[in-house]
Amino acid sequence: MSAQLIDGIALSQKLRAEIAERAAALTAQGRQPGLAVILVGEDPASQVYVRNKVKACGDVGIHSVMEKYDADLSEAALLERIAALNADPSIHGILVQMPLPKHINPHKVIEAIAASKDVDGYSVLSAGELMTGLEGFRPCTPYGCMKLIEATGTDLRGKHAVVIGRSNTVGKPMALLLLQANATVTICHSATPDLGLYTRQADVIVAAVGRRNTLTADMVKPGALVIDVGMNRDENGKLCGDVDFANIKEVASHITPVPGGVGPMTITMLLMNTIESAERG
Ligand code: NAP
Repeated sequence: MSAQLIDGIALSQKLRAEIAERAAALTAQGRQPGLAVILVGEDPASQVYVRNKVKACGDVGIHSVMEKYDADLSEAALLERIAALNADPSIHGILVQMPLPKHINPHKVIEAIAASKDVDGYSVLSAGELMTGLEGFRPCTPYGCMKLIEATGTDLRGKHAVVIGRSNTVGKPMALLLLQANATVTICHSATPDLGLYTRQADVIVAAVGRRNTLTADMVKPGALVIDVGMNRDENGKLCGDVDFANIKEVASHITPVPGGVGPMTITMLLMNTIESAERG
């Protein structure tokens, strides 16, 4: 059996075309959606992420403001910039690229972003909204994973979903979104003694660990749907995920590739959150 690939590039293109239409409609009403992206320091990976986000905005007609600061920017100065962007009516979303330099408290920075502009969905309020089933901004990566699952036509009701990883940005919100979609959810982490015991029972597996080959084919039930969030490098420096793609695709019903699966969806859902924020006015 060879699994069907869940193509994150194709789905992103489709969703971005819809986003562009919604952005054009808002712009025609004089309410062009706007995203502010703040980068502090010179982290090379962060620079690439930020550049990609700004470019993606341009591609769909979202106005973007990119603010770059030296690594020695004070926490107070950053909070002041966020306050100014909170008050700026042309900005509907504010994203501060993580990680921040050590002297800046990331929690303080995230909480300084106005709730109505928290398009990353990282604030305590957004987490609480997700937890209690209220409308709000969903963290972009798990939100994108839900769209990928939805694209396969899988009804999650009654399915057993296993999430590997419990970070605040991926694993935990992922589990809550799956729960909201009526899956029965198990969360595994580094202290889970026998990972395979759980994954072998799963109809849906989401791996968000950051370690190659965490999930191997013998740990997957035939016909399971596998979403690979991981971003790692193999021994040749090639980008790879957390799952043994080559062997698992012979067992699973659907699987996301790395690259080309979850990665493109994360930025797409950031654009989606920004549009939703602008539409709320
Ligand atoms: P993280 O904060 O480091 O969390 C990793 C999680 O994996 C932790 O909960 C950890 O458990 C768990 N874990 C570690 N070793 C394990 C093991 N052997 N068995 C089971 N669980 C284990 O990472 P993250 O931010 O969630 O990201 C996870 C991966 O996704 C990374 O590769 C990251 O680069 C990637 N990512 C990709 C995108 C994208 O757009 N494609 C976006 C975000 C993240 P403990 O809690 O017990 O330590």
